[in-house]
Amino acid sequence: MADTVAGETVTGGSGSNWAGNIAFSADRVHRPTTLDELRAIVAGGSRVRALGSGHSFNRIADTDGTLVSLSGLPQTVEVDSAARTVRVGGGVRYAELARTVHARGLALHTMASLPHISVAGSVATGTHGSGDSAGSLATAVRTVELVTADGDSLTLDREKDGERFAGSVVALGALGVVTSLTLDLVPAFDVRQFVHTGLPLDVLAEHFDAITTAAYSVSLFTDWSAPRFGQVWLKHLIDDTAAPGSPDPDFPWADPADEPMHPVPGMPAKHCTEQLGVPGPWHARLPHFRAEFTPSNGEELQSEYLVPRHHAVAALRAVAALGPVMAPVLLVSEMRTVAADGLWLSPAEGRDTVSLHFTWVKDTAKVLPVIARVEAALEGLDARPHWGKVFTTAPAVLRGRYPRMADFLELRASLDPAGKFTNDFLRRLLFED
Ligand SMILES: Cc1cc2nc3c(=O)[nH]c(=O)nc-3n(C[C@H](O)[C@H](O)[C@H](O)COP(=O)(O)OP(=O)(O)OC[C@H]3O[C@@H](n4cnc5c(N)ncnc54)[C@H](O)[C@@H]3O)c2cc1C
Repeated sequence: MADTVAGETVTGGSGSNWAGNIAFSADRVHRPTTLDELRAIVAGGSRVRALGSGHSFNRIADTDGTLVSLSGLPQTVEVDSAARTVRVGGGVRYAELARTVHARGLALHTMASLPHISVAGSVATGTHGSGDSAGSLATAVRTVELVTADGDSLTLDREKDGERFAGSVVALGALGVVTSLTLDLVPAFDVRQFVHTGLPLDVLAEHFDAITTAAYSVSLFTDWSAPRFGQVWLKHLIDDTAAPGSPDPDFPWADPADEPMHPVPGMPAKHCTEQLGVPGPWHARLPHFRAEFTPSNGEELQSEYLVPRHHAVAALRAVAALGPVMAPVLLVSEMRTVAADGLWLSPAEGRDTVSLHFTWVKDTAKVLPVIARVEAALEGLDARPHWGKVFTTAPAVLRGRYPRMADFLELRASLDPAGKFTNDFLRRLLFED
């Protein structure tokens, strides 16, 4: 169990991840306060991993060597309004970033369900929100600044470093410690969020494209107890045709909810972002959960599989058939869409994507066999597991689902020949069968 320097807690518990299912193997967490200090720690360590906000559910951030948190470094958020970019420090979380860029009249194009996660950690795992036209959070990255194995600083730029850049954004922490990212911004926008209830799976299957394009961001929730989605969350951009007082946007496939909802039935809706069409800024509507509600730890595990969009209906039907198998361990499941990108290890690389997410009870022993059943059901549908969640996909199979994996391994070898940043979790995934 890890201990923290200066007695500070890393995340949901001293030395554990947010969910508390992973106790980090390092005997302490280093929290450098200057870049030079970080460079010395990296240069002096034989095995090093960066820790973000610890929201991953597997051992991706773990090491029995040197675990480094950037939360002690200056939490830089430098907005360039003219260029519509922001340079953000490696320890900054989305909630802080969103507040600052919004104050300058700018916005991120997408957000994950939770704003408490770190930017660098989210980008490293290909974290995404939902929207047919919205790429993952990593697609906003234009520059990556990192400290490499020998303690040197390296900057990779989308315009100048082309191919190498495409391999260095969703990089699983395997290339070095990311000290800053520069992100593209868009003009700030307002959103109205509506929830509809009771969408039959057959209706979704028949009108899939119309339903996922019905709003800028669409999320569908189900517990698979029946072939229907209990909730559809629609996040509409406010434009001239949707000024306050205008009618609710048309969504003929499911009934509008008449009160605020939480995706998990029975949980309090007060933790969720405002619904019922109340207009609000992008950062207070695109996530499902409010920034001011800070869960210190989670009573859940998560898995997620990203399949090519053209397999969406087949994947939904395959998973639906497992309803009774999942019921004892499933809290809720969510379907989202993600636009294709060109980032080598992004789960949306090369294909418009549909993601099938599962929030499980926090009981690894009971959940793992069910995850294996889900993975078997998705066999043949080219499912890529979310890098930061629980999965059992065989390493060789996983590698085979990433056409640019060999290029990534070459890039990793060139930047970190001794494998300083490759922990046991990655060693298995990247090199074993
Ligand atoms: C409640 C909850 C909701 C979530 N919602 C979503 C969602 O909506 N969409 C989605 O796609 N995922 C979601 N996730 C998953 C989450 O976004 C990912 O696990 C993400 O990686 C978390 O970021 P983190 O900073 O906590 O990363 P960590 O778990 O701390 O680390 C993840 C990886 O990033 C690397 N890393 C972190 N910081 C750096 C750095 N500075 N330099 C180099 N590497 C670094 C680590 O080494 C590790 O490999 C959710 C998780 C939780 C707990």
